Amino acid sequence: MPKLTIDGKEVEVAAGTRVIEAAKKAGIDLPYYCYHPGLSIAGNCRMCLVEIEKMPKLQIACHMQATDGMVVKTQTEKILKTRQHVLEFLLVNHPLDCPVCDQAGECWLQDYYMKHGLYDSRVQENKLKKKKAVEIGPTVMLDQERCILCSRCVRFTDEISKTQELGITNRGDHSEVNLFPGKELDNPYSGNVVDICPVGALTDRDFRFKKRVWYLRSKESVCSGCARGCNMQIHYSNERLHHANGERVIRLKPRYNEHVNQWWMCDEGRYNYRFH
Ligand code: SF4
Repeated sequence: MPKLTIDGKEVEVAAGTRVIEAAKKAGIDLPYYCYHPGLSIAGNCRMCLVEIEKMPKLQIACHMQATDGMVVKTQTEKILKTRQHVLEFLLVNHPLDCPVCDQAGECWLQDYYMKHGLYDSRVQENKLKKKKAVEIGPTVMLDQERCILCSRCVRFTDEISKTQELGITNRGDHSEVNLFPGKELDNPYSGNVVDICPVGALTDRDFRFKKRVWYLRSKESVCSGCARGCNMQIHYSNERLHHANGERVIRLKPRYNEHVNQWWMCDEGRYNYRFH
């Protein structure tokens, strides 16, 4: 059980724990996009950089394993400046879509910009143009301009659904998330890629433009679609709608349960709210 110090707090974790999880245990929330506890480590977004004593360069906390006696700092001036720079890079070509983006209100770019960014834009060149509103399957819509190439969706289709529909093609600023030729994102777990996309690149065709997320209320529940009983959250609205008064279910989202469904939920359960 390695014992380490993060921002002066001592924390003991199981062997093999990553620094990002150790920080969470110490009550310190590090920013990240590509890291997801249910997927392999990609380490490409660089948001979770931390300073580790005796290491001359900043290290990514999602990849670095906690070791005994490690001393980690997460809030130094160098780190805060680096987070700003990383965000600036991520936003160089990100469209200013927020007023018409379905992810607004739950977008990690917005959240982290307000928490760690807050710089004046120095970009004078035009932003890159890529494909927008592409129907990549029956449930999901892709906006390539909004994608920050964290590769979470690609790793999900590789490692969890094992259907491998998505990949990242081309290089440099031409890199983009694409379907493999002849494929569409049509697997029984496709809706999960929307949940894990930290920005508005993958949106739910069923939910798009139905409701701004800050008008939604949420209740914890269990899916009744089959005997597995995946844990979920019901997002509902209680505004007066055109013809119906009172509460109405708008979407279902998986809720983490280590023993039942972890972070995921199948499309059958996710979209069956219409029948209830
Ligand atoms: Fe990441 Fe979303 Fe882009 Fe996929 S579409 S790589 S999840 S930002």
